[in-house]
Amino acid sequence: MPVLAIDIGGTKVRFGAVSRKGKILHSGQFALKRGVRPESVISQIALKSRAAKIRGFFAVGIACAGLVDSSSRKLLFSPNLNWQNVPLPEIAERVLGRPAYIENDVNTAALGEYIFGAGKGTKNLVALFVGTGIGGGIVSEGRLIRGAHGISAEIGHMIFEVDGNLCSCGRKGCFESYAGGRYIVSNFYRLGGDRSLTVPSEIYSAAKKGDRFAKKVWLNALDALSVLCVNLTTALDTEVIVLGGGVVEHCPGIEREISRRVKSYYRGGWRYCPEVVKSALGADAALLGAAFCAFACGEQSPKKS
Ligand SMILES: [Zn+2]
Repeated sequence: MPVLAIDIGGTKVRFGAVSRKGKILHSGQFALKRGVRPESVISQIALKSRAAKIRGFFAVGIACAGLVDSSSRKLLFSPNLNWQNVPLPEIAERVLGRPAYIENDVNTAALGEYIFGAGKGTKNLVALFVGTGIGGGIVSEGRLIRGAHGISAEIGHMIFEVDGNLCSCGRKGCFESYAGGRYIVSNFYRLGGDRSLTVPSEIYSAAKKGDRFAKKVWLNALDALSVLCVNLTTALDTEVIVLGGGVVEHCPGIEREISRRVKSYYRGGWRYCPEVVKSALGADAALLGAAFCAFACGEQSPKKS
């Protein structure tokens, strides 16, 4: 019997019936309107999943962007949707009639890669997503690491350079402020780069063609991402680092450049270099991780009569 997986992002919702082997059987998506209420989103999912002939699921897994407390089953804050303290699983249970579970979308993406994707067969994985900012998810000894307040793996805000670039989080020198998509662009402009290039992938191509500002910005970004991989592995003894997100998807070969740099740190007594690979699931990672949460939790909870 499948589960219903839901991925609520900043601008759209994806949903789908997912089999135990991680196959997306039927799926659909719709855009999120500004100011939409959570109840309305779940009702739309119920309607659209019936229309897509999704039925017979025994549990619901929700991946949601923002600050999630999975133990109190709440979305604490979603900056994009401006939702606060929303008991999304409770709403889903009321509307869809099945037990529901929630997890942060980056954590579910890490779980998706761990169970069904690039980390299959390992026990220790870090997922590193480079989009506008940098997000991460950590699986250690087969368990998702959430931390004391559910905000572990904010790896983009670890410090790369003391007193370095100002980051939107208020700190200075965060990895994100060198390698997050929006900072790659703003750092390029600050150096005097061509303002007709507006996305990191265009600046990446310019660097390959020899543009000196683009080369400098991307050298910093690749150094930051490589050091981040090395630091995480030093702390966690990670086997696989999965790179994903828009910047990784649109900059071909970036995983090889990072992998090469990471390898250079493994000399002397350092033997266990992590494998650095590109995401195998791409945009499906969070949806499949949410499905895994529903399978794992749904089977532990008492069956509803
Ligand atoms: Zn920061």
